[in-house]
Amino acid sequence: MAVAVSSLELVAEKVEAGERLDLEDGLALMESDDVLTLGELADAARRLRGGSDDVYFVQNLYLNQTNVCRVKCKFCAFAVTQKQKDAYTYTGEELVEDALRQRELTGFTEIHMVGGESPHVDFEYYVDIIRSLKQAMPDVHLKCFTASEIHHMTTLSGLSHEQVLRELQDAGLGSLPGGGAEVFADRVRRLVAPGKEHPDFWFHTHRTAHALGIPTHCTILYGHVETYEERIDHLLRLRELQDETGGFLAFIPLAFHPENTVFERRGWTHTHGSDDLKMIAVSRLMLDNIPNVKAYWIMMGMPMAQVALHFGANDVQGTVVREEIFHAAGAKTETEQKISELVRYVRAAGRTPVQRDTLYNEVRRWSES
Ligand code: SF4
Repeated sequence: MAVAVSSLELVAEKVEAGERLDLEDGLALMESDDVLTLGELADAARRLRGGSDDVYFVQNLYLNQTNVCRVKCKFCAFAVTQKQKDAYTYTGEELVEDALRQRELTGFTEIHMVGGESPHVDFEYYVDIIRSLKQAMPDVHLKCFTASEIHHMTTLSGLSHEQVLRELQDAGLGSLPGGGAEVFADRVRRLVAPGKEHPDFWFHTHRTAHALGIPTHCTILYGHVETYEERIDHLLRLRELQDETGGFLAFIPLAFHPENTVFERRGWTHTHGSDDLKMIAVSRLMLDNIPNVKAYWIMMGMPMAQVALHFGANDVQGTVVREEIFHAAGAKTETEQKISELVRYVRAAGRTPVQRDTLYNEVRRWSES
């Protein structure tokens, strides 16, 4: 489909007037090489919509309950089969033991837990690990399981998405992370994740979670086979659901890392810094109803995340104790960024560091000393 592209100046006028941007505007932004103007526009849009100098982060622990997965997404360097020697599936007891040990060291307020879609467990396994973690740490927010994993649980159990979410919520689930979205366009999904369910299930899961009062996050995995138009289409679909439910807490653009995937053998390389900054800026501009955009430092590195704070991002994710999925795909960042370093980086960017909980309640603020 040929799309008429409006100029960057016209988009700027719309942003200043507080008007909603459409597909043509999104393409004009994506196709522009004037990255600095994009950053300026995104930062202006963020402020016009009530954003301040506050930059958030959360103290969290990353857990992966299993790396066994049946899906075989082509971009994934994390999943293994049950027979591979490095396969693991932790019990609730083992996860609790590990989390309690880590908690003595870092005092995290959130557990972010996702994993593979193992055919070797049943739905009770998932309920049990949530219940065990909640009983051991009632004050820790459990942000667990992608929409794909929730869908997997419906196939394991024969329950509906709503029934699965209700049972997990009763056991202690607090929110859903945003993974499994990849790029919604059918063409892209067929190429990079042919074994994954149709994106309609991703939307159904998030819509259902929002109706049950479970807030969620949303993502895009960009920088592989998708076109600019498919990226904008992805953002517009998220914006539409947010109009309907208001249940997304934050958007996180995730750059594709080719290492240890089939794409590395095809000579693919990382996204460039300018593309990462452009993606952050365009996300902020298009998603006028999602309050927070994260510069995920584990993927882009802290120096680039710091720059992204001037391109529309207002969150640097967190202390991220032990991240495995992006590191399996070659991310070179430290797996734990201490609070003091995060504070230093945010301050050096001219912003105010604010530690938050998962629901964006303020935990601690570092005002000017
Ligand atoms: S991305 Fe997720 S669903 Fe796809 S292969 Fe990896 S662990 Fe499995």
